[in-house]
Amino acid sequence: MGLFTSPIKTLDDLFTHMLQDIYYAEQQIAKALPKMIDKAGNPVLKQAFEKHLHETEAQVTRLEQVFKLLDKPVKGVTCAAIDGIISETKEIMSDVGDQEVLDAALIAGAQAVEHYEITRYGTLTAFAKQLGHIGAAGLLEQTLIEERATDTALTKLAGQEVNRKAAA
Ligand code: FE
Ligand code: FE
Ligand code: FE
Repeated sequence: MGLFTSPIKTLDDLFTHMLQDIYYAEQQIAKALPKMIDKAGNPVLKQAFEKHLHETEAQVTRLEQVFKLLDKPVKGVTCAAIDGIISETKEIMSDVGDQEVLDAALIAGAQAVEHYEITRYGTLTAFAKQLGHIGAAGLLEQTLIEERATDTALTKLAGQEVNRKAAA
C-alpha cells in the first residue's frame, strides 16, 4: 500500500482505489496525447490521436459522473503503470529519428496505453456489476468500448499502412 492511499479491506475499497487509479491515468493520457499528435507524421494517425484526445477528455468527465453516482469524492491516485508506459513512450519518441519508424513507435506506445485501459475498465465494469452499481457499470463499459475501438483502429492502421512504410 502506498504512503498516502487508504487501506483496502473490501471489494468496494478496491473498486474505489481502481477508479482513482484510472482517473489519474486518464488525466496523464490527456496530457501526453498532444505531444503524440504533434509527433505523428501520418495524417490518419494524427487524426486518430486527435479523436482519442477528445474521447479521453470525455472519459475524464464520465469518471467524475461515476464518482458522483457512487457518492465518492472525485480523486486520483498515482498510477505507476501509466506513468511507466508514458515515460517509456516519450523516451522512444525522442530516440527515433526516422518519421515512418516514429509513427510505428507511436502506435506501439499508444496500444500499450489502450491495453492498460482495457484491462482496468474490464475489471472496473465487472466489479461495478458485482457490487450492484449498475449505472456506474454502464458508464465504465461505455469507456471500455471506446478503448477497444481505439486499439482496433490502431491495429488496422499499423497493418494496412504504417508498418509497411516503416519497413521501407
Ligand atoms: Fe481512456
Ligand atoms: Fe494503475
Ligand atoms: Fe484510451
